[in-house]
Amino acid sequence: MENKNKNKNKNNNESRRQFLTASAAVAGAAVIGASVKPAMAQGESYVFAPPAVTSMEIFGSTERFPVRRVFCLGRNYRAHAFESGDNPDVTPPFFFIKPRDAVVDSREGFPYPPMTRELRYEGEMVVALSSGGANISEADALNHVFGYGVGLDMTREDLQHEAQELSRPWAISKSFDKSAPCGPLYPVASHGHAVEGRIWLSVNGEIKQDSVLSLQRWSVPQGIAILSQYYELAAGDIIMSGTPEGIGLVERGDLIRCGIDGLGEIEVRVI
Ligand code: MN
Repeated sequence: MENKNKNKNKNNNESRRQFLTASAAVAGAAVIGASVKPAMAQGESYVFAPPAVTSMEIFGSTERFPVRRVFCLGRNYRAHAFESGDNPDVTPPFFFIKPRDAVVDSREGFPYPPMTRELRYEGEMVVALSSGGANISEADALNHVFGYGVGLDMTREDLQHEAQELSRPWAISKSFDKSAPCGPLYPVASHGHAVEGRIWLSVNGEIKQDSVLSLQRWSVPQGIAILSQYYELAAGDIIMSGTPEGIGLVERGDLIRCGIDGLGEIEVRVI
C-alpha cells in the first residue's frame, strides 16, 4: 500500500512536471508573440515593400524572364577595341556590371540621363542564363543559356572619359538608371543559339554600327566560362556581350534602332 502510494505520488509529480514544462512553453510563446511579430517566424516581414522583380519579355510567351544580375563585356570586338584606344592584341576584353533594374523595356523610350552632356549608344547582344555555376567549361556553357535578345548599353561618355583619366570606376558612366533598354528574349528552345549573324544599329535611319557576331573576341561560351571563374553564375543572370565599332553620341529626339539576325530589332527613342 505504501509502495503503491509512493508510485502514485511519483506519477503525479511526473505529470505535474510535464504540465509545468508545457505551460512554460506556452507562456514563453505568448511573451515572444507579444514582443516580436509572429509573421517573422512564418515568412518574412519588411519595413517597406521590397523592390519589384525586374523581368524581360520572352518572345512568343506570356511568361517573363526574371533578371538577377547584369554583366557587361567591354571591348569584345577588335575594331571597337581599337576605336576605344585599346590594343586588342595586348589587352583582353573585360567585365563590368549594371544594376538589375537598369534593364527596361526598349519601347518605354529612353530618358536622357541627368548629369551628362554626352550620351553614347552601344548596340549589343544580350545572353540570358537559365542556370549557372562556377568554373563552367566552354563545352558546357551553352547548356546554361535560356535565350538571346537585343539590348543597348547606354553610356555617359563624358563621365566615362573623366573616370578613365582619373583612374576611377566606371559606375556612374555605365550603371545609371534605365541604362539597358532591351527587347524580348528569344528562347534557345524555339530559336536556337545566336552565335553568328549580323548586328547593326542606326540613328535616325543612318547605319552607325554594322558587324557580325562571329567577330566577337570572346565567343558566348568563352565569355560564360571566363565570367564563371570570377562569379558563381545563376539563373536570371544576363550578359551584354559587347558592342562592335561605330559607337557615337545621341541627342534628345533621336531614334535608335538596333537589330540582330534572328533576334528581331528594337526601336529606342531618346526623350
Ligand atoms: Mn558595351
